Amino acid sequence: MSYLSRLSKTQRLRLVGTLVVAAAIVMLGWSREPKGDNGAIAQFDTTMSIRDIAPKLGSTGKSLARDLGLPLDVPKKKPLAKLGIKQKKLDRVVGHVRGHKETQLKYYVFAALVLFGLVFLVRLGRPDGAPIADRKLWYPRAVYIAALVVAVVVCGFMLGKSPNPMEGTVKTFKAMVGLYPSVWGKVVPFLFFLVLAIVGNKLVCGWACPFGALQELLYSLPSLDGIRRRKVPFWLSNTIRGGLVVLTLLFLFGVLGGKKGFVIYHYINPFNLFNLDFDHLSILVAVVVSLVLALAIYRPFCQFICPFGFISWIAERFSITRVRVDRQLCNKCGACDRVCPSGAAGDIVEGKLFAADCYSCARCLNVCPHDAIDYGFALGKPFPKAAD
Ligand code: SF4
Ligand code: SF4
Repeated sequence: MSYLSRLSKTQRLRLVGTLVVAAAIVMLGWSREPKGDNGAIAQFDTTMSIRDIAPKLGSTGKSLARDLGLPLDVPKKKPLAKLGIKQKKLDRVVGHVRGHKETQLKYYVFAALVLFGLVFLVRLGRPDGAPIADRKLWYPRAVYIAALVVAVVVCGFMLGKSPNPMEGTVKTFKAMVGLYPSVWGKVVPFLFFLVLAIVGNKLVCGWACPFGALQELLYSLPSLDGIRRRKVPFWLSNTIRGGLVVLTLLFLFGVLGGKKGFVIYHYINPFNLFNLDFDHLSILVAVVVSLVLALAIYRPFCQFICPFGFISWIAERFSITRVRVDRQLCNKCGACDRVCPSGAAGDIVEGKLFAADCYSCARCLNVCPHDAIDYGFALGKPFPKAAD
């Protein structure tokens, strides 16, 4: 019997309702997107100054100076040629800055994917009244894989690299040193992603982030099941990831390196893949290394590098919905821990406050022989147990 035929009538209605609401969210985003020709694209040359160019790119003088490889306090009214900038370099930097142009529609697609993931995990993954013997059929992978493909294709290649959760975080850091005209304008998108990470454990990472989804898809390739997949010690990956956040802030504020405005993540931002914009060789290296490692290690970029991954890991303590364990039923057999790629399930069973990242991938939810694990509201009642 297929997954759909197992769902109760109420669940089928819920599924249709969720898809309709998700589609309506995307349509709303579509209707609000500016349409048509936005006028001629401004051309720039090196007789112009930073002050002439930056406002037309929606940038600040400091930010453009940094992108051009100049000190932040360089004279902003001087022609670029007199600052040693060649036309080729200016064209490359302008192309890069324009590549950061955000489509608002993407925020709506992120929200729609997270909504779908949330309802699937909390209400649709396990058919109502399904017997425990059928648990391997709960939370079908095909549903998750379909959401991941949408995330990669729509939130990645179709709508381009920006916005995304990682850049939302980095841009907030950059705004603090004046690299954007408004701090608030960057904090709001960051908060948006944070809320999507808190409604369910890292739901935006697990279900909507295009680079996270690409890594998840590679890790899930069935033909590669034979590759020994190692779990990374969480203390190690999280120390590196958190250390990188601290190091970035120290460089950004000029405490280290003496080059205020320097952003480490700029040189390893794998989201550039979705614009095919590799303006530094190190970006291409970061993409290739992350994707190759993802065949054997679960989400290497998320676990070792991503600043949003680190911040949303801290925020997971406040997640409204999450993987829950019924301690009266759990006999610590380790079944969930064995299938969990991040180590989170074992930590949750142990009741650790600072468990490893949970990406809400649902792998643990259909293996427990005692039906002691589910996905629900942190403060809500336990899910009704399956029949024996
Ligand atoms: S942790 Fe991974 S999934 Fe989450 S924002 Fe970063 S790259 Fe995307
Ligand atoms: S298998 Fe691990 S990462 Fe996936 S939902 Fe369960 S605890 Fe979270």
